[in-house]
Amino acid sequence: MEKLQNFINGEYCDPVKDQYMDNYEPASGTVYCQIPNSTAEDVELAVEAANSAFPVWSGMSVSERSKILVKLSEGIERRMDEFVKAESRDNGKPLSLAGHVDIPRAVSNFHFFATAILHYASESHNMEGVGVNYTLRKPIGIVGCISPWNLPLYLFSWKIAPALAAGNCVIAKPSEVTPYTAYLLGKVAQEAGMPPGVLNILHGEGGNAGDAIVKHPRIKAISFTGGTATGEYIARTAAPMFKKLSLELGGKNPNIIFADCDFKEMLSTTLRSSFANQGQICLCGSRIFVERPIYEKFKEEFVKRVENTVVAHPDNPEAKLGAVVSKPHMEKVLSYVELAKEEGGTVLTGGTRVVLDAPYDQGYYLRPTVIEGLSYDCRTNQEEIFGPVVTITPFDTEEEVLMMANSTKYGLSSTLWTSDLKRAHRMANELEAGIVWINAWLVRDLRTPFGGVKASGVGREGGWEALRFFTEPKNVFVKY
Ligand code: NAD
Repeated sequence: MEKLQNFINGEYCDPVKDQYMDNYEPASGTVYCQIPNSTAEDVELAVEAANSAFPVWSGMSVSERSKILVKLSEGIERRMDEFVKAESRDNGKPLSLAGHVDIPRAVSNFHFFATAILHYASESHNMEGVGVNYTLRKPIGIVGCISPWNLPLYLFSWKIAPALAAGNCVIAKPSEVTPYTAYLLGKVAQEAGMPPGVLNILHGEGGNAGDAIVKHPRIKAISFTGGTATGEYIARTAAPMFKKLSLELGGKNPNIIFADCDFKEMLSTTLRSSFANQGQICLCGSRIFVERPIYEKFKEEFVKRVENTVVAHPDNPEAKLGAVVSKPHMEKVLSYVELAKEEGGTVLTGGTRVVLDAPYDQGYYLRPTVIEGLSYDCRTNQEEIFGPVVTITPFDTEEEVLMMANSTKYGLSSTLWTSDLKRAHRMANELEAGIVWINAWLVRDLRTPFGGVKASGVGREGGWEALRFFTEPKNVFVKY
């Protein structure tokens, strides 16, 4: 069976303690490769490599760094097919999604930050007759990037690209559930001429390699995307060491539908915002609030569309949903369906596994699920499920829906459907979220700030925000 390796100091290598863990293919529920379960010893090796590489990388001209990152982006593009297949196999997502979204976006992430750094200017503040202040923005040093399993290479590269562009050396850990495309990235880094030690990729469990990255005194910043509980632990561990922290955490996003919306467009987008990537996108709208005059119409047409949504093997071009990422995750999602019933909800459609023909009968397939009849403040409507499960709830007034939308501890994104411009602006202002989409969903401009409020995170990624995070400003004053 294939054994993946860590990528340290520009070379692939086995983990120091020679410990491995199984990696499952969600589409068949079988183990298809093994990955290093790295420990603090591996992190130490990576830190030593990064430490030696830092003067070289940070001392290189910005245009040289940019050229290497552009090559990295082109390298992924050249191997598009290999990356797309690997991402789909590792995660269970439809091949078409990996091919249209995940891997092209990883290419764009590297290209975007490779070129953004060429335009990154710092401020100066003139004090008339006194002197001038100018701000230097220096790379931080060695930084840690830890990412989740739902958009594996997409989110991995969203962190690594700005960190590298700003001149830092990186110790990165993908999710142990979806390590494969991060493993492939080492080859592309070699081909792109990335100096050894600049990018180090370690595999393994969060409690081992991840924890050792967070605790290492020479790793000066942690950029983390994952669950809120993990984020809280990381904050508690890293704060006394005065590390810079960027935390992109969970969500429970509202999708608010007013009767005056463009119904057709809303319906097809709502289908995507509910179930794309098996509902495993942090930005999916899992709480759907519908204005009462169109509630019944929405319910009928939405459920009909959901029932026609094809759940199939990820390689099947018809598949709109593939497999969810793991057995424990599938069980967690199903347990929430049971909870919803206990809380008085009615399952309008879905709520069960889909069993495909052998050899895929052990795969982790779930029917897209719609539940109604729950109060806005029950656990099903307050806790993150992160699967193909949505609830629908009617509302009567703007005030009422705002209260319900803002009632969770999360605040990542919101979607709003209305043709009333004044209302759209009013609501966008009041919604407790880092991102609001009006008559749209998941339209992403890489220059815009990305992140959440409340338990959805601290800090912002994207554009200049990311480059600011990965640099340390220093003010210099010169007297006239
Ligand atoms: P997770 O928190 O379990 O794991 C995320 C990463 O952290 C993995 O690489 C894991 O190995 C590592 N990790 C776990 N424990 C650790 C520890 N003690 N120290 C250091 N690292 C540790 O999350 P997940 O299950 O992989 O991902 C799903 C979650 O991610 C959901 O809550 C989802 O909302 C969230 N998410 C948020 C965003 C966002 O941008 N806000 C984007 C995608 C996913």
